[in-house]
Amino acid sequence: MKDFDLVIDNAAILTMDVNETIIKNGSIGVKNGAISFVGKQISDTCCHAKKHIDAQGMIALPGFVNTHVHCFQSLLKGLGADRPLISWLNSSVQPFGVRVTHRQQELATLVACLEALKSGCTTFCEFFYTNQDPELADVCIESMQKTGIRSIFMRTFQDYGGEYNVPDCYIEPVEKAIEEVERLRKIPCSDDMLSIWTGPDVTWATTLSGYRTILEYCLDQKVRYTMHLNETLEDNDMCRRNYGRNIVDLLDEIGFLTDQFLAVHCVHLTQDEIRLLAKRGVSISHNPAANLYLGSGIAPIPACFQAGINVSLGTDGAASNNTTDMLDTMRLTALIHKGVCHDATAMSAEKVVRMATMGGAKALGMGKMLGSLEVGKKADIILFDPEQIRSVPMHDPITTLAYSASAENIDTTIVNGEVVYRKGIFSCGIDEEQLNRQVMSELQKSGMLHCSLS
Ligand SMILES: [Zn+2]
Repeated sequence: MKDFDLVIDNAAILTMDVNETIIKNGSIGVKNGAISFVGKQISDTCCHAKKHIDAQGMIALPGFVNTHVHCFQSLLKGLGADRPLISWLNSSVQPFGVRVTHRQQELATLVACLEALKSGCTTFCEFFYTNQDPELADVCIESMQKTGIRSIFMRTFQDYGGEYNVPDCYIEPVEKAIEEVERLRKIPCSDDMLSIWTGPDVTWATTLSGYRTILEYCLDQKVRYTMHLNETLEDNDMCRRNYGRNIVDLLDEIGFLTDQFLAVHCVHLTQDEIRLLAKRGVSISHNPAANLYLGSGIAPIPACFQAGINVSLGTDGAASNNTTDMLDTMRLTALIHKGVCHDATAMSAEKVVRMATMGGAKALGMGKMLGSLEVGKKADIILFDPEQIRSVPMHDPITTLAYSASAENIDTTIVNGEVVYRKGIFSCGIDEEQLNRQVMSELQKSGMLHCSLS
């Protein structure tokens, strides 16, 4: 008799494996945080499970991987709206970022992660750059861990003020950043529930020696790294002024383009640059909502696919998206590229769901661990209920997921074999309504609430 910690029964299983296997009436067995069985319905007589979930009428699929977020921005929804990137940064994100308190960081992180879990995300990448107070990083990590989400904490750095008003308190020598990364890497964690990354924040806040030093550290220590790259044309303008060439060429010259690098945005890329990123094995985090919100443009994702680049999806911070809902980003991704290319086949629902699952897993170097429902992989699973007014009727699970799904369809979110969200309840014990009230009262207290209805 097989022994499991958790068995999910009667589910339609969208495995998202390489063969795109769909099991119509199946079971998933979980043991020690990993998937130990996926297949046809197993009968009660041949297995024993500590916990059973009857998923009748639901679809089980791998949890979504959000490869780019800034948690603190969850308190800034709508602020600085309708401005281009640099003006938005200077009017909303930077003034708040330099004085964010521990309590605000905690609340913002909880809001970001709980919304993520509620909309089917199981792995969440925090791109952290408010480095004026080292303890903010600890608060952010603790809050992420509290919610039960699989956390990737990307502690980035800025070692140059430049001409873009980078706040002085963010600027630090790259060696100091490395010390901090080393400190954070010592935080105890089990089952790959926390990974620490690093990288430069943006091109205009990084010196050439900063790139070189962090790269040497990352390659030596096998630490993965990320950076905002070509979100706007400013990256290339600045780089041409200072170094006489485009940023992608500069990065390639110093060996920065590797398969450990996750490039965020990549809105402005030439065909040659796309070929170069593909050749070097760089992954991309595509953040279409933020790119639209700030008028940055639309990344040439179909061309990136054609060149063989692995593309993942990110929501970006809520200051430039107003949500951390991956389903929202998936729908946007499925639609905008058809419009830009004047071609309804330029992006398919299947590609988008794959970007949100396996694409994300590969971008994090976790392709063998996450991204599909297969024996041996981590049990990061969501149960999707298609019978909601927005999505009914479902003719095809993949198209429903890409085009008509919302957080209402997410019935259950399981991370590392643990049920962290089910039917409106978070198992970390946080009450959603109470958290909302705490956020409002904190902002009111600190004079940051721009619009109060009470
Ligand atoms: Zn960002």
